[in-house]
Amino acid sequence: MAVPAISAIVMVLLGTVLLATAFFPLRKILANPESPQGWRFLVGLVYLFILGYLFYASRLLAQPATQLDLAVATILMGGGVFVAVVCRLSERSLSSQWQKAKAADHLALHDELTGLPNRRLFMTRLEADLASSDQSPQGASLPLSLLILDCNRFKDINDTMGHFAGDWLLQEVARMLSELLRTEDMVARLSGDEFVLLLPRTDLPEATAVAEIVCKAFDNPISVEGNEVSLSVSVGIANAPQHASEPAELLRCADVAMYDAKRNQKPATIFEKNMTGESRQRLWGAVAIRNAIDQKEFTLAYQPQYDLRSGTLVGAEALLRWRSGQFDNMGPQNFVALAERVGLIRPLSDAVIALVAQDFPEWAKVGVPIWVNLSAYDLSDPQLTDRVLRVLDSAGIATSLFGIEITETAMLVDQSQAMQNAERLAGEGIRLAIDDFGTGYSTLSHLAQFPVSKIKIDREFTSGLEEGNASLPIIKACIDMAHELSMSVTAEGVETAEQLSAIRGLGCDIGQGYLLDRPMTIERFVQQHAVAATYTI
Ligand code: C2E
Ligand code: CA
Ligand code: CA
Repeated sequence: MAVPAISAIVMVLLGTVLLATAFFPLRKILANPESPQGWRFLVGLVYLFILGYLFYASRLLAQPATQLDLAVATILMGGGVFVAVVCRLSERSLSSQWQKAKAADHLALHDELTGLPNRRLFMTRLEADLASSDQSPQGASLPLSLLILDCNRFKDINDTMGHFAGDWLLQEVARMLSELLRTEDMVARLSGDEFVLLLPRTDLPEATAVAEIVCKAFDNPISVEGNEVSLSVSVGIANAPQHASEPAELLRCADVAMYDAKRNQKPATIFEKNMTGESRQRLWGAVAIRNAIDQKEFTLAYQPQYDLRSGTLVGAEALLRWRSGQFDNMGPQNFVALAERVGLIRPLSDAVIALVAQDFPEWAKVGVPIWVNLSAYDLSDPQLTDRVLRVLDSAGIATSLFGIEITETAMLVDQSQAMQNAERLAGEGIRLAIDDFGTGYSTLSHLAQFPVSKIKIDREFTSGLEEGNASLPIIKACIDMAHELSMSVTAEGVETAEQLSAIRGLGCDIGQGYLLDRPMTIERFVQQHAVAATYTI
């Protein structure tokens, strides 16, 4: 056989082999259910090409090759190279796309810190499990239990040892819980330090046994950065169909039981229709508040405060609002009191401070200090200043733009701690105001020991002003004394023009009330005040 024929045959066969290598990446592409349409057609084409190549090679064997054959063979080999390279590159880029999509899917359904399923994935699984246990072949629905587990005093550990240690601890808890479970069980992280165990085909006695094992696992201290940390948990147990058959309802039952355990300082509690100790309604409320914090249902309304001489805007008070179908008529006074009773005021106040920080890019456009209300419990918390500073710092808010309103009773609950907090906060440049002034029993000279920059005269007094009532000289004396002590005075609840002129006549510095402005959304506040921040008096 002539040399050109051999070369042509070799090139065509090489082209055939290259075409055949394209099947490896093509197989991988086809194996993925998300592979784009059209790839099957391409596989068919490759088969056709191979047949064509082999037919051409057989023709070259049978008759002498011409110069044209040599050229065609070169092109066919080039075609083989082209197909092989394109298929390989396509497979690579599709794989990397699929991997990215898979990672995004995983992230949407898993908690980033612990890698556990998140609330969404957990609810999907719970729904599916409850539906399938309902359709058991025996007719009666199969039992399923939930264990909600909340770490006790986790926030203290987080605050004292730092977030890094806190994160590490949560990962450790996730690992411990995962190790305790059977393959059919699921552990998910619901939020912060709250985990849930889903136990299919498990009745109450079995679930209680699991709860005991879980609590026991926390008997031994956990080592974090060389320190031994004792962590205990409160567990709430609920069972389907005994307590509820709806996913959300069952989860709430377990939550209520967990609260009961926490309040009674018991390691674990089984849900009861009439939970002992705390009234059921109150427990439901506590669960609702906690969920509202987790689900970010709280918002803030901002009520402007005006200088009474110039009419300029000098600040705004951030007032808590709860967007909830369940508790629509519950004002902040009520749910703040509820949060205080069930030990949730700290996370609630943290949520308020975080919301103010979140709104900062907006209210920064207005440029006046924002005042938040804190509770007596906050003021007796040794961590208060750190809690506040951490948030202000990370949001880049100057301390001079942040004020705290505290009631006089709050200052007297744990006086020495309150004083320490007030001094630290004031030392950092954060302003303090005495809220609801005049409703407590303390004297201004007593309160003046605190580094307070303003007092807010309670609405009760403002509303009494227009009748020219007897307390007028008392208010006047208070205002004068506040001025003597270099404090400014704000009158709350100014509703009528008469009240406005009365408080101005008394020498009040700042006014706040429905007459001047109602509490409003941050958007409205910015829209109204970023340009014209005055009230025409
Ligand atoms: P407060 O600190 O005395 O807040 C002033 C309350 O008076 C607000 O009610 C405000 O909407 C209302 N108000 C303002 N101007 C007028 C007026 O001209 N007339 C009348 N009738 N009312 C007026 P809101 O928002 O319902 O808050 C009630 C209380 O709830 C607050 O009283 C405060 O003690 C508490 N609160 C509100 N937000 C928070 C918060 O974020 N944290 C804490 N711990 N407590 C909060
Ligand atoms: Ca207030
Ligand atoms: Ca007040």
